[in-house]
Formats: sequence, C-alpha cells, structure tokens
Amino acid sequence: MIAEIVLRESIWQTNKIFDYVVPEELLEKIRVGQYVRVPFGKGNRPNVALVLSLKETSDSKVKLKSIESLVEEEPVLNSEQLELLKFVVKRYACTYGSAMHQMVPALVTKRTGRSQLMVSLSDPEKAKEALESEAVGSIQQIRALEWLLDVDEMTLSDIMQELSISRSPIDTLAKNGLVNIRSVRISAEELAEKEKRKEELELVTPPEVTLNEEQALAVKEVVEAKGKQEFLLFGVTGSGKTEVYLQITKQILKEGGSVLYLVPEISLTPQTVARIRSHFPNRIAVLHSRMTAKERYDSWKMIQKGEVQIVVGARSAVFAPVQNLKLIILDEEHDSSYKADTLLRYSARDVARFRAGRAGIKLLLGSATPSVETFYAAKHGYMKLLTLKNRAVSGAVLPHVEIVDMQKERDTHNQSIFSRKLYTAMKEALSKGEQVMLLLNRRGFSQNVYCTSCRSMIRCPDCDVPMTLHTKTMGRHKLLICHYCGKVIPSPQTCPYCTSEYLAVRGDGIQKLEDWTLQDFPDAKVLRMDQDTTSYRGAHEKIINQFKNHEADILVGTQMIAKGHDFPKVSVVGILGADSVLWQSDYRARERAFQLLAQISGRAGRGDVPGRVFIQTVSPDQEIYAYAATQDYEKFFESEIKYREQLSYPPFKAIGGILITHEDEQACSVQATMVANTLREMAVNLGDDMMILGPCPAGIPKLMNRYRYQIVVRAKTKGLLSDGFTKLQQSYAGYGFSISTDIDAMW
Ligand code: ADP
Ligand code: ZN
Ligand code: ZN
Repeated sequence: MIAEIVLRESIWQTNKIFDYVVPEELLEKIRVGQYVRVPFGKGNRPNVALVLSLKETSDSKVKLKSIESLVEEEPVLNSEQLELLKFVVKRYACTYGSAMHQMVPALVTKRTGRSQLMVSLSDPEKAKEALESEAVGSIQQIRALEWLLDVDEMTLSDIMQELSISRSPIDTLAKNGLVNIRSVRISAEELAEKEKRKEELELVTPPEVTLNEEQALAVKEVVEAKGKQEFLLFGVTGSGKTEVYLQITKQILKEGGSVLYLVPEISLTPQTVARIRSHFPNRIAVLHSRMTAKERYDSWKMIQKGEVQIVVGARSAVFAPVQNLKLIILDEEHDSSYKADTLLRYSARDVARFRAGRAGIKLLLGSATPSVETFYAAKHGYMKLLTLKNRAVSGAVLPHVEIVDMQKERDTHNQSIFSRKLYTAMKEALSKGEQVMLLLNRRGFSQNVYCTSCRSMIRCPDCDVPMTLHTKTMGRHKLLICHYCGKVIPSPQTCPYCTSEYLAVRGDGIQKLEDWTLQDFPDAKVLRMDQDTTSYRGAHEKIINQFKNHEADILVGTQMIAKGHDFPKVSVVGILGADSVLWQSDYRARERAFQLLAQISGRAGRGDVPGRVFIQTVSPDQEIYAYAATQDYEKFFESEIKYREQLSYPPFKAIGGILITHEDEQACSVQATMVANTLREMAVNLGDDMMILGPCPAGIPKLMNRYRYQIVVRAKTKGLLSDGFTKLQQSYAGYGFSISTDIDAMW
C-alpha cells in the first residue's frame, strides 16, 4: 500500500504530495489523517508528515521510501478537517505546513513528561529597583518582571505565550540575576483541580427570558431551516442577539448536534463567555489566545473526542475538531480580529463559510453593524436576513447622539480636552450616580516627542515609526517605547537629530486623558483600560467587572471598551478624537469609523437610564457622523456601497497585498520590482483582468531592522488572487527571500 503524505515542516520547495510505502507492520494501523514519521531528503532526516490519502500503486519513477512509524494512532485530522486543510492551502496560497500549524496544536508531536520550566523572581525588591533604575533594556523584559511581581511564579511557556515573546528576554533576565528558571513537575490531578475551580468561578444562574416576537421569529427561521443555509442576524446593540444564539444552540443540542460559537476576542468578552457557560455547564470547551500550549492541547483533545457539544473561541477556534457539527455562529461578524494578520492571513469568516458549506450545515452571522461585504450578500439573497429592530429590555431606547465641533470650542477659548456639552453631561450623570465611558481612539493619538527646532519626530531607529511617550509606565518616568518592536529608551533631553533642547510633547495619550479626567472630576473614581493596564492575565475581566459593579464612575479607554459589554448604569459616552479613524489610508476607514461609533454609542443607555453620546470632532461636516448620529446602518450602507462600486473596491473586486522584506533597502526594492514584474507577466498570460500597483514602500517602511515594500493587486475574485499568489510563491521558491501574501489586504 502507498500513502500520499505532506510534510509538517514544508517550505515552498517541499510543498508537494509525496508517495511513501506503508510497511508490512503498519498496514493494519495506517489511517488517513494520521501524523507519521518519514525519512526525508538526502540525509533521510526524520520528518513529521500527514497522511492525505491511501492508494494501491504509485506512478512515481523513483524508488519510494517507507514510512518509519506513527506519531499517534489516532488521526489528528478527520476527513472534514482534511478538506478544510486543502481549502486553506489553496485559498490562502500557503504551504501545507503552515496550514497544519494552524489546525493541529503543537503539543501533538512534542508531548513528553509533565515537567515544566517555572520562572520566578529571585528577589522582588531587586526587580522593583531594576524597574525604577531603567536598567532593563526592553519592553519585553519590563513586562515579564511586572507580570512576575503580580503572580509570583509562572511556567516559561505561559510567560512566552501571555506576553507573545521569545525565550531570550527571560534568559537575559536570568543571566542578570533577576529571575530564576527551574524545572518542576505538575501532576494531572493538579491540572484537573485548576480546571474545576475555574468552572465554579464562572458559573452564574442564567436569567429567565421570554423571547420577544422578533427574537422568536429569528430562532424559528434558523432552527427550522433544512441543511445548508447562511443567515445574518442584523440587530441593533442590545436587541437580544446573544439570547437568540443561546436559544438556537439549545435546540441544536437537543437534536444531538454540536455548535461552534465564535466571538471576536475572549479576553474582551468575559461576560458573554460566562453567560454561555452558565447555560450549558459541563458541555462547553473554551479556546482562547491566553491559553497555555498544554491547556490548548487538552481542550482540543476533549473536543476531538466529542466530550463537549459547544466550543466557544476566538478566530482560530474556527479550525476546532468539533464532532457532529450542525451550526457555526459568528458573533460580531464585522470585527477585524476575525482576520489574522500574522503568518497565515486567513479570515475566520471566510473559513467558517467554507466549512459550513462543505459540511452542509448552518452558518449564523450576527452584528449591529455588519461588514459591507456581508450586508451586500444578505441584500442580494446569498444569505437570509433576520432583523431585530428594537432593544430587548423594555424601555431601553437608542441613545441620543450629538456631534460636537471642537474647533468651535477652541475658537471660544475652551482649551480643555472636554467640550462644554460633554463636561456638563458628565457632571450631571455623576451627580445622579450614573456612570460615564470615555473613548480615545488610539491610532494617531499617542503622545510623541517632537523637536520644535528641526521639526522631526523622534523615531525608533530600527522601525522608523514614531516612538510613544509613556510618562507613568511602571512607576518610572518618561520613557519612549516603540510599539512595533518593543525598544525602550529614556526620553532624551536634547534632539538626537539636531541637538536642540527645544523638545515638545505632541498628541493626547490615553494617560493624558486620564489625567484631565482626574483633574476635572476630582471626586470621581476613574478606571483606565488600554494596552498598558491589560498586559497581565485576567486584567480585562478585572477592569470590566470593577466597572460593572460600580467600583468606578468613569472608564477611560481605547477601542477595547467599545466591544459588546453590557453596563446598565452608563448614561454618558464621550468619543474623543473620532477623526483619526477616518484618516487611515484604507478603503475600509469609513466602515470602521461607523462601526466604532455605533458600537460605542450602543454602550450607552442599555438599562433603564437613557443614554447620551457625544462625538467630538474637528470636521463635523463629515457625512459619516450624520449616519452615526442617527445610527442608521442602512443609510450608511447605501452610500458606502455606491462608493465601493464606483471605485471597484470589495465586494465588487478583490484587493490583495504582497509584502517583501529585506535587511537591505536596495535589495528589497529590487526584489519587489522582480515580483511585480512576474505578476504583470502572469496577468497578461492568464488574460485576466488583474491590476498590479507598485511596488512602493509599505505603510510602515521599516520594521525591526527590515525594509518593507508592498504591491497591491486588484482582481475580479479572491480565487484569482489565490491562484496567482500560489504560482508566484512556487516560482520564487528557493530564491531566499520571503514573500507574504494576503488575498484580502487591510492597512
Ligand atoms: P445583543 O447581543 O444584541 O447586544 P443581548 O442578548 O446581550 O443583546 O441582550 C441585551 C440585554 O437584554 C441583556 O441584558 C439580555 O439579558 C436582555 N434581553 C435579551 N432578550 C430579552 C428578552 N426577550 N426579554 C428581556 N430581556 C432580554
Ligand atoms: Zn531637532
Ligand atoms: Zn521599533
């Protein structure tokens, strides 16, 4: 018997299907979807490979090698997932290897004993001193120390995962005597106990709700649909979409099926997860990004064995090996976190659609502000549109939104970060014991250091992006941090470019907003939620719960606070610096701006307190603010879809991107030109309506000491881009430079 296999560590040169002989002793055990060990290449190095299919004979002209052994008897992928793997490879122009890394947890091949490397501070006082004295040279090291000050000790793999860092900053800390690394054993019982405690903590009694008419109709439509079908649940914030998902899930479970329930980001939606868990205790597995490799592997195994019927997770859970899957739910389907922008640039929405279609099951997307592509599909009958027009809690109405012209405020001598209207509304709300949320859009609003003599912004020497000033980070003073590579330097006294002493701070950072708030509302308790306050495990949950329990009056934060939290006591929402979303150089800027404004507005007035929203802008005439003010998604859509059609943007055409990086700027530019020329030839040969723009330096022209060039490709469909990009990768395999491609580029 012959097995067709693909290598787990495949690169483009080896991204092929190879024939291997199945030896006598494995004939009984070999299965499609198993991981096996095979000798590969001249040196017959052992490699892990996946069995794609089995056949009797091979057409190969060369002498075949034999499979050496099985990694595990149980297949790592079932037939449905093998289809998914092939889809990912074709669709995203990636190697089998990168698709496998996405779909199979790393521990499947690396499981050894249960001994773990544990990291702890050698002396907390010494760590604090080091933090104060600026002796620690990178943000990664600083975060690790801070984290350990919080939790005492942690496994090495946990730290690396939680902070998304490599091992080297920890090793540096160990070398400098700040932390200890030792090996310990953790028993299975201990792990099980930990899980149980978590379950108990999160369990609350679900409230009894009777669905309203609109909700009941939506549930009925989905439950009664036969076979494969796609739905869009379009309902304003607070209209009870989650309740609809829960009821449908109940029905599916009753009929013996399983449900995959995707949410944008688990750490940002602890309330939703707790709510789902409370309805289905012991039948649910949660997958999230802040899990350790071991936790992820355990959950994956549990799901694969069919021990749970509901899988809740973020983006990557779309690949979970759910048994007897009958429905995929994508909550907040418009959310950009469903799109991966790391190595494999997939969209969970896209994968979910393929998976549901292939398996002949139902797909339910939901949002108050659907993506333009999705709403277009619903309007044109590709999916069924289910609408919830009203807020679910009786009496709760949509908030009143006001646009405030900040230029006028300045002209009339108000230099404060708060407009008079917002200030007054906040005072009123606080005096009545209500809560306030303030959102500052992060992009373009960080604080930077600027030289007033030579007019340069201080930039990261490695990345060429402006460095961000942190005035109060970790109790130390005035640090400049590069948010792309993590470099930290003390804020200089003189300009590094012209040595002038006239340095100024530019921009309103979130910390500055906090300072203003504390100054103007001295009696209010203020909580801040941004990257800096949420780097440790459980931080989001803590802040959200504190605010929900009314332990603070005002929550200031970045986009993070806009996501689906339910705070019944919030009556005033202020959006500061709304314009910066619109200034992004992306055709989706208007869509994002509308979504952000509508979502954050939706946080106001969810309970019995009516809500008021203030959007502060310097360009109040922008059409988008008028749509946001009336919260009229359909009007926004009508205008947006015309604009997209005129300019041939998605959903009318696909827009892909290619990124070429190199240490040397000249080499980078030359290679990018070569790639662009290859694409142009390809387009001519294919006779395709494909347009190649560029190359030109990317939006961030230099990152971590590598120069970056981009090429934009427009084509009729994503499929054409996939095919083109695959051919491109194949023709440059072995050239020694890396090309990353994206069939749905975002900037
Ligand atoms: P969405 O997901 O659309 O934002 P939720 O499902 O979170 O809305 O519902 C908003 C609030 O309304 C929640 O507090 C929820 O418990 C409540 N709710 C939902 N449906 C009903 C209903 N039929 N009757 C009463 N309250 C409801
Ligand atoms: Zn200068
Ligand atoms: Zn940098």
